Amino acid sequence: MVLSKEEKEYLYNNIRDIEDFPKKGIIFKDITTLLNDAKAFSTLMQHLKNRYETYNLDYIAGIDSRGFIFGATLAQMLGVGFVPIRKKGKLPATTYAKNYELEYGEDTIEIHQDAFHNIENANVLLIDDLIATGGTAFAAAELIKSTKANCVEACFLMELKFLDGSKNLKKLTNVYSVLEID
Ligand code: AMP
Repeated sequence: MVLSKEEKEYLYNNIRDIEDFPKKGIIFKDITTLLNDAKAFSTLMQHLKNRYETYNLDYIAGIDSRGFIFGATLAQMLGVGFVPIRKKGKLPATTYAKNYELEYGEDTIEIHQDAFHNIENANVLLIDDLIATGGTAFAAAELIKSTKANCVEACFLMELKFLDGSKNLKKLTNVYSVLEID
């Protein structure tokens, strides 16, 4: 099911812009307002369910923390397992870790080494709310690769097109963004 122009507008209009958060110059795309609107949340999730039910997925991996909301919901709808990719120090069992660059400094994300139960070439969908520079998602796709699973696609609710963050990520996996923001 392809989303109509009206449905895309409906989703977009339920995302709130917060200026200068978390720091000056950033326009933060707040999805709490979309989650809060039952029709918007359901439209989005039904669209993702329809897109991915033919992908033969084994797992969905969500990025800390808004990727957990969409990822876990979709996993339940598709009847597959959910795997969290978390900020450093949050996962309790043995992990793989990956550093990535931020605008200022760097950060680390982790995945449990046995997250996909060592199923070789498990089909995994990576999901997050937004791709900006693409650094986080690139590191997450590399982590999935570390587990020997296959990242079949990276899915975002929003892509900030002007940052071209998906360019690098496309070297590792397919990229799908529900809303492209100029
Ligand atoms: P990046 O690694 O630059 O692609 O940043 C992506 C991560 O940061 C995602 O987990 C997003 O949730 C978050 N993020 C980056 N920029 C924004 C923004 N303008 N509004 C909301 N979240 C953002």
